[in-house]
Amino acid sequence: MPLYSYRCKACDHGFETLVRFSDPAPVCPSCGAGEPVRQLSGVAAEGKSGAVIQSARKMAAREGHFSNYSRSERPKR
Ligand SMILES: [Zn+2]
Repeated sequence: MPLYSYRCKACDHGFETLVRFSDPAPVCPSCGAGEPVRQLSGVAAEGKSGAVIQSARKMAAREGHFSNYSRSERPKR
């Protein structure tokens, strides 16, 4: 059974629950509202992976190589 993270639209309470595909949608354990929003935990959002690439590039720049820059992005010398 997959463990999903949800966030309640009504009270903004975050919770995790095991969900079978045959189960009805979970309800918020805090306020009992239905239809919580499923969070995409464990999957890197595009913005996040972009930040990872940026930090990797900064590290590479500190180390003095630019192998993970494309040719056009490399600083001119
Ligand atoms: Zn709630």
